[in-house]
Amino acid sequence: MKEMEQRILKDGNVRAGNVLKVDTFLNHQLDVELLDHVGAEFYRLYKDAGVNKILTIEASGIAIACMTARHFDVPVVFAKKAKSRNLDGELYTSLVKSFTYGKEYNVTVSQKFLGPDDTVLILDDFLADGKAMDGLLDICNQAGAKVAGAGICIEKGFQPGGARLRGQGVRIESLAIVEEMDDTTGTIRFREQ
Ligand code: 5GP
Repeated sequence: MKEMEQRILKDGNVRAGNVLKVDTFLNHQLDVELLDHVGAEFYRLYKDAGVNKILTIEASGIAIACMTARHFDVPVVFAKKAKSRNLDGELYTSLVKSFTYGKEYNVTVSQKFLGPDDTVLILDDFLADGKAMDGLLDICNQAGAKVAGAGICIEKGFQPGGARLRGQGVRIESLAIVEEMDDTTGTIRFREQ
């Protein structure tokens, strides 16, 4: 999606440690018009996949998921990162190692909101090592839900997540794939797709 690439070039900031900062439009302040186009693009890509539920992870995935759900007319479920007491039925739980914070945390989804009748589109802001995606796929697997595929706003193609997951047969659609980036010069190069 050219619009996403152009926006990254205009407003993205390359930081040390392979971190791309996009908090002016995706991770803190949100450009709702851009997100509306993101939702339309994920709909174009997955409209024939029988999606009846969108799954994401808090916090940055939620806006992307909601804007996409408007096009599909399906509910959004977001996996929670905070440890919550299991007062309201059973939870699916998966352990995820955070790329940006380097810590491990549990993601949880109530069993009420995901089950074997669901065909799920998984959405997230970034794909790097694929740990967050592994957690969400694990939760779908525990639920017996079918996974139509994943939609990613920004994949860092120089990290192994995308290639590994595609190799496992997971459909991954990324709106921009950063092939390389350099925090000393600030340059960013995208994969042709
Ligand atoms: P992964 O689990 O694929 O290693 O990393 C994906 C998660 O880490 C995303 O949900 C995203 O929140 C965060 N993340 C990974 N790389 C970056 C990055 O370069 N910039 C930002 N802002 N978040 C990232």
